[in-house]
Amino acid sequence: MAKGPFPSLGIYIHVPFCIKKCPYCSFYSEIFDKELAVIYTKALSRSIKTWGDRLAKQYYVDTIYLGGGTPLLLGESNIYKIFNTIGNNFRLNIQEITIESNPGSSDEVSFCELKKMGINRVSIGMQSTNNFELKSLGRLHSHKQTVNVIDKVRKAGIDNISLDVMLNIPYQTKESLANTLKFCRTSGAKHVSAYMLKIEEGTQFFKLQNELNLCSEEEQCKNYINTVLLLEDLGFKQYEISNFSKIGFYSKHNLKYWNIEDYLGLGPSAHSLIGYKRFYYKDSLKNFVYKDSPIVECQKMIPEEEYTMLQLRLNEGLVNEKYLKKFGKSIPKKYFKNAILFEKLELAKVISDNRISLTTKGFLLSNRIISDILFNT
Ligand code: SF4
Repeated sequence: MAKGPFPSLGIYIHVPFCIKKCPYCSFYSEIFDKELAVIYTKALSRSIKTWGDRLAKQYYVDTIYLGGGTPLLLGESNIYKIFNTIGNNFRLNIQEITIESNPGSSDEVSFCELKKMGINRVSIGMQSTNNFELKSLGRLHSHKQTVNVIDKVRKAGIDNISLDVMLNIPYQTKESLANTLKFCRTSGAKHVSAYMLKIEEGTQFFKLQNELNLCSEEEQCKNYINTVLLLEDLGFKQYEISNFSKIGFYSKHNLKYWNIEDYLGLGPSAHSLIGYKRFYYKDSLKNFVYKDSPIVECQKMIPEEEYTMLQLRLNEGLVNEKYLKKFGKSIPKKYFKNAILFEKLELAKVISDNRISLTTKGFLLSNRIISDILFNT
C-alpha cells in the first residue's frame, strides 16, 4: 500500500519461548511447548487486531522485528499467521522485516518460506565462533551450526545478515575474540551487534558469578576498544555503542528506538512508544494469553531528554539540525557547556551549538557522561 501522509510505525513481536534458559540471559522466556505456541499465536493475533483498530488509520508499518526468546520455534505456519494478521490489520509500506535466529533452532523452518513471507533480514545469535566459549555460556549450539544457518539464509536469497557477538565471555582471549570478529567478515555478514556480557540479577550467572572466570573491568574496557578498532578495520562502521554495519545496512527498526520514533511492542515484556508515551506488557505469558493482555504505562517521559540520552548512544551523536526539526527548538546551551568538560578528557567531541558525540572511550562511561551532560547545572 502507498505510503500516504501517515507517520511510520515499527512493530516488535516478542516470542517468549526457548528450548532451555541460557544461564546469563535476562530476557523473558518460557520453555517451549508446541501447543502453547499455537495458543500464543492466537493471543498475538487478537492483540494485533485490537491495536490495528486503534492505530491503523494513523500509521503505516515500515519495520517488523520478531525477537525473543527464539522466534523460529514458532514454526512457519504460526509465523505466517502473525504476518498475515499484521497485513490484514495495518497499512504496510515495508522496508525491513527481521527475524532473530538461534543457530540451534534453525532446522525448525525453511528460510525460503520465510523469505516468501517478506522477511529480508536475519539476526543470528552466534555469540562466538569458539565452541568452548559457547559451552561456558551455556549455549546449545556449535559453531558448525552457525555456519550452516548462515549458508541456509544466504541460499534462500536473504543477504542482510546480522551476527551477535558477545564480549567478555568466561575464558575468552584476545585472540579468540579476534577470530570471532574476523569470521563476521569472512561470513559475508552485513551487520554486527557486539554486546558485553552483563551479569544480571535473577540469572544463574548472577548466583555463580564468583565461580565464573570473569575478566576484570580493565580487561573489559580493552576488549571493547579492540573490538571497535578491529570491526572498523574489517569494514564494519560503528553507528551505535554496540552496533556496526556495512554501509547502508544499519538496523532500520532499532534506529526507531534511538530516534524515539513510534513503535508497538506485542507479547509479554514487549515495550512500546506511541506519541511519546511508553508502556509495556508484563513479563507473563499467562497474563498475555488469558487475561486480555493488560498493559502497564510507564512514567511520563520528557521527550527532549530521552531523545538526547538515546542520540548520544549513536556515533553521529546529538545533532542540532535534527533536534530542531523534531522539537522546533535548539539543543540547550548548557548541554554544550557540560560536554566541553568531557571533550577535555577525550570522552566527547563537541562542535559548538551544532553537535555533541561521545568517543569510543566515552561510550564505555556513557551512562555517567550522558547524565552529566543533561543534568549538571
Ligand atoms: S536462547 Fe536467547 S533468549 Fe533464549 S535463553 Fe538463550 S539467550 Fe535468552
